[in-house]
Amino acid sequence: MDHFQHRNGALFVEDVSVEAIAEAVGTPVYIYSRATLERHAQVFREGLSGVADKHIAYAVKANPNLAVLRVLAKAGYGADVVSGGEMARAVAAGMAPGDVVFSGVGKTRAELVQGLETGIGQFNLELEEEGHVLAALAAERGLNAPAVLRVNPDVDAGTHAKISTGKAENKFGVAIGEAPGIFARLAGKPGIELRGIAVHIGSQLGDLAPLEAAYRRVGEMVATLRAGGHRITHVDLGGGLGVPYRPGETMPSPAAFGQMVARVTVGWNVKLMFEPGRVIAGNAGVLLTRVVWVKPSGGNPWVIVDAAMNDLARPALYDAYHDFVAVRPSGDRIVANIAGPVCESGDTFAKAREIDAVAAGDLAVFRTAGAYGATMASTYNSRAKVPEVLVDGDRFALVSDRIDPAAQMAGETVPDWL
Ligand SMILES: *Cc1c(COP(=O)(O)O)cnc(C)c1O
Repeated sequence: MDHFQHRNGALFVEDVSVEAIAEAVGTPVYIYSRATLERHAQVFREGLSGVADKHIAYAVKANPNLAVLRVLAKAGYGADVVSGGEMARAVAAGMAPGDVVFSGVGKTRAELVQGLETGIGQFNLELEEEGHVLAALAAERGLNAPAVLRVNPDVDAGTHAKISTGKAENKFGVAIGEAPGIFARLAGKPGIELRGIAVHIGSQLGDLAPLEAAYRRVGEMVATLRAGGHRITHVDLGGGLGVPYRPGETMPSPAAFGQMVARVTVGWNVKLMFEPGRVIAGNAGVLLTRVVWVKPSGGNPWVIVDAAMNDLARPALYDAYHDFVAVRPSGDRIVANIAGPVCESGDTFAKAREIDAVAAGDLAVFRTAGAYGATMASTYNSRAKVPEVLVDGDRFALVSDRIDPAAQMAGETVPDWL
């Protein structure tokens, strides 16, 4: 079931009219559906019904809004965080510290200490030295840090280069063959319990084969480590499952993913951990925008909208496709370019695309904007920081304010010597 539907000619999110949100909050604005977030959380969990011992840690970076995190905390999800800021958010939103996993290639000493003092459930180490530093920081505090080692399986995820993370040339993890040596040097050190391995090969994966290849390499390494006398109790399989962005596009389902995982991990005898981000949040949100002008050109007209690359960076960053749908479609279609007001040619959402015919003043949404949308927003061109709204049935709430240029200037100082 889709909670973003046209009713009597106008778009609704659950039982709230998108026009009512535009009226109350203005545009551009991100709109999330609670029912969709909950459904995705449930479908992902059900997909893993063949995995008995598991922990699901939502990848906070996909959408770190506190209200979104609260929905997922209530759904029984933990959190995968990549900074001290995300850790603080996860706990503030109600996730148990013990359900928090700390990933990230550049954790600072201060962030490692924050993790220890918060009592998080697991540190995912990115290099050997991080393990020695973590062990020392924990031992000083009389603690024992639960940790796994992130390995790089050298698998091509077959996704966009900027969101591939599991090739040898990427900055993430240690070459998988180095794991036994690192385990030998870290095992038994006071302050650390190195209990397993982690892998995450990339995002927006449209094919399960690279994931399966990576997991098989992980399985072989679990056997090798055990043969070397190490106690392996946890394996973190990361995130990465893709979502459909284009109409008619299909992606591997959570059920197909779960069946593959159950098949590949037979006999591993560990707690399996998962870090889904996009698959939970992506299709639970839209970016609502208003058409400012329709500008004629020698070729296709330019539909200039009031959302821009600073609000939704994915098209400029990854050449990403976001479906564009009129809030009140007339039934007519046009071929147009869609762009925002920012002074960069990269501020273009679509070229020569067939879309609903729109005119100045009309509302439209970019779909599949719930993940890697608002969280990447900036105030470039001194634009307002885009607000966020959460819908729940027939009610909605502003869950992140619009921060306008006056408020931004209030945080800046001109020194008195100028
Ligand atoms: C980004 C990230 C994820 C989530 O990836 P999705 O593609 O959004 O599922 C999970 N784990 C790690 C370590 C990540 O960096």
